[in-house]
Amino acid sequence: MSYYRKCEDCGCTLDPGEGRICDECAEKMRQKTDRRAVLRKMILSTNYKQMEMEESLR
Ligand SMILES: [Zn+2]
Repeated sequence: MSYYRKCEDCGCTLDPGEGRICDECAEKMRQKTDRRAVLRKMILSTNYKQMEMEESLR
């Protein structure tokens, strides 16, 4: 009996050596994480700019 694992995300069969998700989903996950990091950076810098502006208004 051969055993295979399934991708936790899309349910496709995983190749040996792949983790819990397939390469495709791993790539998607990575891009999502990247986007989130960029978004967080944008929010942080926006807050920073607003703080600077509030600071200069005093
Ligand atoms: Zn997948």
